[in-house]
Amino acid sequence: MTDPFGRTIDYMRLSVTDKCNLNCFYCKTGPVKHLSHEEILRIEDFTKVAEAFIGLGGKKFRITGGEPLIRKGVCALIENLVSLGATVGMTTNGVLLKRFASELKCAGLNGLNVSLDTTDGQVYRSIGGGDVSEVIDGIILASDLGFSLKINAVLMKGINDDVFPLAEFAKQAGAELRFIELMPFSPTEKLISDKFVSAAEVAERHGLSRTERAGNVTFYEGRGYRVGFITPLSEKFCASCNRLRLTCTGKLLPCLHSDVSFDVRPYLSDYEGLKQILIRAAGAKQPCHQLEKGVRQNEEMGSIGG
Ligand code: SAM
Repeated sequence: MTDPFGRTIDYMRLSVTDKCNLNCFYCKTGPVKHLSHEEILRIEDFTKVAEAFIGLGGKKFRITGGEPLIRKGVCALIENLVSLGATVGMTTNGVLLKRFASELKCAGLNGLNVSLDTTDGQVYRSIGGGDVSEVIDGIILASDLGFSLKINAVLMKGINDDVFPLAEFAKQAGAELRFIELMPFSPTEKLISDKFVSAAEVAERHGLSRTERAGNVTFYEGRGYRVGFITPLSEKFCASCNRLRLTCTGKLLPCLHSDVSFDVRPYLSDYEGLKQILIRAAGAKQPCHQLEKGVRQNEEMGSIGG
């Protein structure tokens, strides 16, 4: 399936829950409102949407949230997607990784992106609560199990913009490190406005040299480290966007940074109807986000799915 700008849309992010076991201040403003069972897509609903997406040429899925490892049945969903021939990755905060890593491997998960902003226990706790040693142990176990591992850190001025400690840990764990520029969303914008720092500024301060751009990641090297930066603000990569997002309440989003959405729920028993709504969502994709013009998503990142 292609969108009106000729981009192939073959990647979907499935947010399987809006609940999370951390409270990162840049991601959500507080506990999420309770949703009833009926409001949340079932594992078989996600599978049906995925099947229709694959019918339109979809190839790759990323399971996210909220925190995907707190959603019951997440491994069954991975198995379903893998049996449909898809490549499946997951983005997790890693708090429960030690408990689930083997099961994820058996389910056929291809790659793991673990969100880790710092290895400093105190700083970690001040960002979103939780015990960083749980995450570190989970990453090491996942590495031992042979997962293709990426560590994603949200780049924040004065908090984790000394990139070397995390680069050292990533190197030891055999993981690719990527810092993501802090993105504004309406609910959390005021809390984060003084924390933004661009990738180029941090790279220059650390004497890192830009080496290459691969997909949406720009790589830099220095002092024996390779550090990736994902730059949605300072260097947009919308031209290569290949994705749709599905929230746990059944909203299909053409873009992370707009409120336009399409409800899949009326079509869950209708394969052709699902295909049509997916085509409409792809058809609604814009050439690029407009964050620099103040256009914002009104939902929190955690409820959309990162
Ligand atoms: N709970 C999982 C996790 O932590 O990886 C998945 C969901 S979380 C919303 C996905 C990713 O979005 C995390 O890497 C998180 O750090 C990132 N994120 C959340 N809010 C963000 C923001 N305002 N700017 C940039 N990245 C953000």
